[in-house]
Amino acid sequence: MFDKILIANRGEIALRVIRACREMGIKSVAVHSTADADAMHVRMADEAICIGPAPGTESYLNVAAIIAACEVTGAQAIHPGYGFLSENASFVQIIEDHGLTFIGPTAEHIRTMGDKITAKDTMIKLGVPCVPGSEGGVPDLAAAKKLGAEMGYPVIIKATAGGGGRGMKVAATAADMESAFMTARAEGKSNFGNDEVYIEKYLTTPRHIEIQVFGDGKGKAVHLGERDCSLQRRHQKVFEEAPGPSITPEERAKIGKVCADAVAKINYIGAGTIEFLYENGEFYFIEMNTRLQVEHPVTEAIFGVDLVREQILVAAGESMTFGQDDLEINGHSIEVRINAERLPNFAPCPGKITAYHAPGGLGVRMDSALYQGYSIPPYYDSLIGKLIVHGRDRAEALARLDRALGELIVDGIDTTTPLFHALLQEKDIHTGEYNIHWLEKWLDANM
Ligand code: ADP
Repeated sequence: MFDKILIANRGEIALRVIRACREMGIKSVAVHSTADADAMHVRMADEAICIGPAPGTESYLNVAAIIAACEVTGAQAIHPGYGFLSENASFVQIIEDHGLTFIGPTAEHIRTMGDKITAKDTMIKLGVPCVPGSEGGVPDLAAAKKLGAEMGYPVIIKATAGGGGRGMKVAATAADMESAFMTARAEGKSNFGNDEVYIEKYLTTPRHIEIQVFGDGKGKAVHLGERDCSLQRRHQKVFEEAPGPSITPEERAKIGKVCADAVAKINYIGAGTIEFLYENGEFYFIEMNTRLQVEHPVTEAIFGVDLVREQILVAAGESMTFGQDDLEINGHSIEVRINAERLPNFAPCPGKITAYHAPGGLGVRMDSALYQGYSIPPYYDSLIGKLIVHGRDRAEALARLDRALGELIVDGIDTTTPLFHALLQEKDIHTGEYNIHWLEKWLDANM
């Protein structure tokens, strides 16, 4: 087992990894930008090293500085968290070239799944059902128009390198194709340095259902059920739950096995998420994320496992602590993302926290790097906390969420907390009847 792990990230996810390390008796090294000198992950880790100035590109994405920090501190492995370098195949290659261990999948798996066209191709070959669409990339507008006419509108044009909801445009009719195609391409080019795009049928009322998988890198893999992440704003998740309110045990077992078998076949190592759209009882693959997801705690809650601990174990060449038969769902869990944003426009709202009180009590977990007196810097993601609740059933989880939100105090800045108070007044949230468009419609009508 490793003696020391460096965490190439910040915020709540850095704390999450430090906590797992501490429980395993492993020393942790935090890295930080100059803007984060006072951040909680710096205070909580056993050691901390400054790796550059405030902008992420010069610090948390600064590969040379991160490798140097490993050498200076003697850390043997790097946990990337999510975002930043977590899905960067060349980073993984560089880590290995330095004799260090990346806590995550291989560079090859990251490369395959990071290119959405290649990912889809691979999944089709592995027997995973996909959204109908173009076979591979679509070279130009004429080809796009031809395909649109053949497939029937609406369609969605997606950048193969896209992520975080960027590089995706819907063409509702043939008249929209030109601007949608050009915009998706331009976004792919400017955000991800790759203008290749592909086309999919645009599903009009799907839910977003994702399957958590976990492999040991030696051909053994399991699934840990699904998460429903349909409540989205601008293709970004804000409320996630497990199990999915619309998924039956039979459906779970079936799609779960397809996913576990697929990743076992490619000797996948560590945590991964296979994302689907789900409509009329069918699953359609959209992408695979080769990292820990923001919403992993809802899965941890219902299965009672520590996914970060398992990631560290398999990265060190040890066995996973569970097999498929050990995994049984216990109750229901919901996560809401507390962002430093001002409603109704969700404008980023960094600033000084004048008071902070985290909710507690039975079935409540608050993953956050906030503390009273902390100043949220303006340079990074606006996620400042994840409130996760667990109950014996969905109704209990919802009641607990309401209670816990009432206890949360974050003064000095605006947060998205009022959004969740309002959502909990909605009947559809209680019946679980919502799809990926529900929240946008609700926001239009209510905010
Ligand atoms: P990203 O990598 O940017 O997160 P995804 O491919 O995972 O992009 O898609 C994100 C979200 O976009 C989905 O959860 C869904 O809301 C919407 N979406 C993606 N593909 C389709 C599609 N074919 N039809 C309808 N909605 C889609």
